[in-house]
Amino acid sequence: MEKDYYELLGVDKNANVDEIKKSYKKLALKYHPDRNPGNKEAEEKFKEITAAYEVLSDSNRRARYDNCGNAGADGGFDFNQGFSSAGDFSDIFNDFFGGGFGNRPRTKGNTENQGTPGADLRYDLKITLEDAFQGMQVPVHYVTNVRCDLCQGVGSEGAIKPVQCSTCQGSGRVRSQQGFFTIERTCHTCYGEGKIIHNKCKKCAGNGRRRDEVNISVSIPKGVEDGAKVKVSDKGEAGARGGKNGNLYVCVKITPHKVFTRDMAHLYCKIPVRMTLAALGGEIEVQSIDGAKIKVKVPEGTQTGTKLRCREKGMPYINSHARGDLYIQVIVETLHPKNLTKKQIELLKALQESENLNQQPEGFFNKVKKKYSMF
Ligand SMILES: [Zn+2]
Ligand SMILES: [Zn+2]
Repeated sequence: MEKDYYELLGVDKNANVDEIKKSYKKLALKYHPDRNPGNKEAEEKFKEITAAYEVLSDSNRRARYDNCGNAGADGGFDFNQGFSSAGDFSDIFNDFFGGGFGNRPRTKGNTENQGTPGADLRYDLKITLEDAFQGMQVPVHYVTNVRCDLCQGVGSEGAIKPVQCSTCQGSGRVRSQQGFFTIERTCHTCYGEGKIIHNKCKKCAGNGRRRDEVNISVSIPKGVEDGAKVKVSDKGEAGARGGKNGNLYVCVKITPHKVFTRDMAHLYCKIPVRMTLAALGGEIEVQSIDGAKIKVKVPEGTQTGTKLRCREKGMPYINSHARGDLYIQVIVETLHPKNLTKKQIELLKALQESENLNQQPEGFFNKVKKKYSMF
């Protein structure tokens, strides 16, 4: 059976709250674990008297206890809560015996004029490889909290400085006592700001910021990489009441290109080349990323898969005029008899025979060249 709470605290059943508190203080100081390090018995005793005080100091719980005993008064209280470290403990203890609340100096957050910082924002932007090559100005529209122009972000009419919250003395936190425990929470009067605005700005309802559309032009540098984040300082959500603005991050996604793949500043493409051209050599025309048509020499006897390098025809290096290279991979197209004339098939057959006879192919190629004069 549970011990009697009145007995534990050594008070009469009719004791008033002051008597209970006084008695508990005396016993709590005696059995406080800080004063009895390693003493399990004292700790147990301390827990017991604290449980008793928790119930008897609360008139509702005391009434229930008086009527129904422990079962009625038990509010699911967890002793371990708040007792996890000596630090927590002495903090509670000091507050309890120290008297007043709210006089503690602020330890963190909300120092003078710090306000609430604005959040960073992300904007996803899809561009083409050509856009990335040229660089561009992009109009960006988004809705976010912007600084109120009427009160200049202060939140009060006429931009009059807010006054210190009297509930929390400007700390933004209030402490309340639940039985023996002190619970700290955000101040409901000032919502943790520590300051109160009496004449709230009508445009922003005292927030110092309001929802609005933002239209800006963002500069995307030439040579931008896929996945790059372009930072636009201070263009995120506005800070409130003097808080710093967040940043806007434009996340660049480059859509896959039909012709080119990219590796840093270099570009790669595959170009089909007719078998005869690959064999005899010649020139092909390729449209580079800047739209210009460039002529590329194909050496005779070029095998499929060969990479032809075009210097400085790739992407620009970021923040530079220099460009990477373009690599053209030659894919030699095999001729299909369906697409050939009878004459062409005959010529191919002749070629095959000449190969079988292990002849030098130059003579034959020259003949083909003359015959078709297409290169
Ligand atoms: Zn305003
Ligand atoms: Zn407050």
